[in-house]
Amino acid sequence: MEFSGDRFDVVVVGAGIMGSCTAYEVAKRGQKVLLLEQFDFLHHLGSSHGESRTIRATYPEAYYASMVQESYRLWEAAQSEIGYRVLTKTPHLDIGPASNKSLQCVIANCEPDSINAQILHRSQLHDMFSGAFQLPDQWIGVVTDAGGVIKPTKAVAMFQALAIRRGVVLRDRMEVKDIQRDEEGGGIWVSAAGGDRFWGRKCVVTVGAWMKKLVKAVTGRVLPIQPLHTTVCYWKIKEGHEKEFSPETAFPTFASYGEPYIYGTPSLEFPGLIKIAMHGGHPCDPDRRDWASGSGGVLVDSVIPWIERVLEGRVEAGKPVMKQDCMYSMTPDGDFIVDFLGGEFGKEVVVAGGFSGHGFKMGPVVGRILAELAILGEAAGFELKHFRLGRFEEDPKGNAKEFEDQVSSHVSQNHE
Ligand SMILES: Cc1cc2nc3c(=O)[nH]c(=O)nc-3n(C[C@H](O)[C@H](O)[C@H](O)COP(=O)(O)OP(=O)(O)OC[C@H]3O[C@@H](n4cnc5c(N)ncnc54)[C@H](O)[C@@H]3O)c2cc1C
Repeated sequence: MEFSGDRFDVVVVGAGIMGSCTAYEVAKRGQKVLLLEQFDFLHHLGSSHGESRTIRATYPEAYYASMVQESYRLWEAAQSEIGYRVLTKTPHLDIGPASNKSLQCVIANCEPDSINAQILHRSQLHDMFSGAFQLPDQWIGVVTDAGGVIKPTKAVAMFQALAIRRGVVLRDRMEVKDIQRDEEGGGIWVSAAGGDRFWGRKCVVTVGAWMKKLVKAVTGRVLPIQPLHTTVCYWKIKEGHEKEFSPETAFPTFASYGEPYIYGTPSLEFPGLIKIAMHGGHPCDPDRRDWASGSGGVLVDSVIPWIERVLEGRVEAGKPVMKQDCMYSMTPDGDFIVDFLGGEFGKEVVVAGGFSGHGFKMGPVVGRILAELAILGEAAGFELKHFRLGRFEEDPKGNAKEFEDQVSSHVSQNHE
């Protein structure tokens, strides 16, 4: 094959948002890069496709806020370089029972992280956002101006285009089967199905929901990353209320804490429809997904009473108009894995996965961190201790949290 046998500074495996941003960031630093993808570029079988992702600065964990701020900066820089936009700025709203611990942590983190937040009670919130939100008793809202909607497929395509401009070689339909140390010359051999082999001084693995399978095949080590099949639903806005839900009238991206955790974005991608979904999914095998029954049940049913309760009279809650399937890669603590693979690979192979349903906004900053880890062996200015692989050996649950789980994984007879 054309590039088989070529030598690269860095071989990046997996061309979702993380791999595409990494390839671009490595090339920006003057290195020769190869980006490999098992399916067609911009496919819909992983986690980085679709019409919208939320970017927000509010997190219950304090350590994500500075990453989001750097990511915002890098999103802006990439848009300026390419000359078009993939991010629409909006306010962001977090709501939930005042007693909810995650929401309390969100509020506590706003001040030290200099996030300008307004904490509103029911009646105050009712006067905002055209009166769309009717909070139940004892609920509160936290409004910030640091929200936004990113177009995921367009954003991945943007980073791939920027990478090509910087000389990155992109190859799709190239399923990586093995990664080995080059015992003779040093560096890494990456082997694909069909017999192609590529050499890199370093390798970065960003294979999303396939991470557990690939790392197990390469090292025998089992990473605690559980793929979840999830479903996004679009609902019809009642006639006459369409404008209230649009970014032009400053309708926010939102997250509703509690059980279930619900999230949504302004009406943008399909006129007259709004995305409202439950944060969760069914455990799945990424190569054997149940497309027929995977996208229903509790993921849809839980949203209906939430719409009736919180957006009463504005959105038709009978059933969704449209559904789209996607995958999460869950770690036990919901935190990312960003680390060297270690073992015989030492610092020559970097892995990044387990983005647990909240990684997209971080793509540019994760790409920057991975580029620095691969080239320099460290990412100055970033505290990565919460993302270490070794944390699961110390405690299978990973990082300790002061608050309840936000993502639900539902096992049923139809799902693995
Ligand atoms: C419905 C949904 C809503 C979400 N909402 C948000 C949100 O609002 N905000 C937010 O920040 N995040 C959100 N996320 C999470 C975010 O989309 C993911 O964290 C992110 O897309 C993960 O990107 P990735 O590059 O790690 O994985 P992927 O996009 O899956 O990319 C991995 C790539 O590796 C390829 N690959 C796998 N194995 C191999 C192999 N052996 N050889 C070669 N290639 C391989 C795959 O085909 C795939 O293209 C959401 C996710 C979903 C599913």
